[in-house]
Amino acid sequence: MKNDAGSIQAKTEDLSPAEEKQAMLSAIVATSDDAIISKTLKGIITSWNPAAERLFGYPEKEAVGKHISLIIPPDRIGEEEMIINGISRGERISHFETIRMARDGRMIPISVSISPILSNKGLIIGASKIVRDLTDRIKAVEKEGVLAAIINTSDDAILSKTLEGIITSWNPAAVKMFGYTETEAVGQHISLIIPSDRIEEEAYIINEVSKGNKIDHFQTLRRAKNGMLIPISLSVSPIVDDRGKIIGASKIARDISAEQALQQETERLYGQLKKLNAQKDEFIGLASHELKTPLTSINGYLQILAQQITEGRNKMFVLKCLQQVTRLSSLVEDLLDVSRIEAGKLRFANEDFNICEVVADAVDLISHANDSYRVTLHSSVGEYKIKGDAHRIEQVLVNLLTNAIRYSPGTNHIEVYLDLETDKVKIGIKDFGIGIAKGDLDSIFSRYYRVDDNNIQAAGLGIGLYLCYEIVTRHKGNIWVESIHGKGSTFWFTLPC
Ligand code: ADP
Repeated sequence: MKNDAGSIQAKTEDLSPAEEKQAMLSAIVATSDDAIISKTLKGIITSWNPAAERLFGYPEKEAVGKHISLIIPPDRIGEEEMIINGISRGERISHFETIRMARDGRMIPISVSISPILSNKGLIIGASKIVRDLTDRIKAVEKEGVLAAIINTSDDAILSKTLEGIITSWNPAAVKMFGYTETEAVGQHISLIIPSDRIEEEAYIINEVSKGNKIDHFQTLRRAKNGMLIPISLSVSPIVDDRGKIIGASKIARDISAEQALQQETERLYGQLKKLNAQKDEFIGLASHELKTPLTSINGYLQILAQQITEGRNKMFVLKCLQQVTRLSSLVEDLLDVSRIEAGKLRFANEDFNICEVVADAVDLISHANDSYRVTLHSSVGEYKIKGDAHRIEQVLVNLLTNAIRYSPGTNHIEVYLDLETDKVKIGIKDFGIGIAKGDLDSIFSRYYRVDDNNIQAAGLGIGLYLCYEIVTRHKGNIWVESIHGKGSTFWFTLPC
């Protein structure tokens, strides 16, 4: 442009003042950001500058010579007659806002100013138009409208203030939350709603905002016009002017009284639940303890009776009683273990023992007690020492083997695997029974969890697997199950060597 201007300067030295003026006008028209168009009184376009090309998409040679209706939408064609009439009377039209049509059919909002063109003799021979594209201005106005609608309909109080703390805007939610009307609040200092013992918060907020920082979800209290304190969550952002200078702060305040009440209620209910749970654990602990003493005496007396009674039928009854008492004792013992775990009092021995022997013993015990089942042990080793509580590990094995039999009605075969891996021993108990549905797998080791399966009537308390989990994890091992519903399950556990 500079070079062009330079060359114009050079050439104008030889021009007459009228020619010089003409050259300057041409340069202005060529470089204008506004479209500049001229036309005859009949509406025929006679000039079309580069900005008109850009705005309407027609190159100069396509527009000049055409009727101006080229860019007038059909429903606005009447405007042309009105414009030409005015121009013919020598009138100027300023900032007439309307719509014109681009070559690609796009409707462009414009502001147009039209002046008559006079001949040398002072006759009106046409009109010149300066057209400004209003698209950006309309978009900005629309954006402003959307923002205003958001602010006016927000449930959160939205307000702004200067860096000196003077309130500059106050939306309807702020009116509702704090009770002050917009007129009462705007122009006042923000301390209007700050409780006196929190006034220093304002200095902190202004300090942060002045540094360009945002404050998010700052929980505090504000005072309403009626004196009531309102718990709020406050987010504050700096307001920056066109030149990037911080000139104030915008605040969004959310009333969190309902949220807080809900949280307090949840905490209260949770506390109540925890208390009830502790009472239940205490009851189970006490009850199992109280049950243990009479059970031990019944067991003792039944054993004496079993030795003394020789008559077939009566002996069978006593032996059946003994069997049931043993089962009951083991349930009570399990319940006592649960309450010991809850009280953090489940103790473990920490001795070296041969895991292969413990597995073989458990397999023998279960095989003898259930002679209709074949329990096969697959093990490649006879001795492997690990550290821990042999008695508790046997409890895990007996629990898993008992479950394998209980939950496999109509089958007669259980497999037990014992494998040594680099740093651990891995034990698996596989049955071919009812299996476990996918949805239950995650909960199966939880306390008191039992699968709700109407087809199986096995009694139980849902604590066997929980105890297995506690014992294995306290030995720093892992326990898990692989199962196909209806086909069987394999419970695995590992113990570190
Ligand atoms: P209980 O057997 O006393 O109910 P457990 O904690 O031992 O308690 O087992 C929890 C639940 O897991 C059982 O109710 C049963 O539904 C399921 N379960 C345990 N072992 C097996 C198994 N081998 N096959 C299928 N389901 C099992």
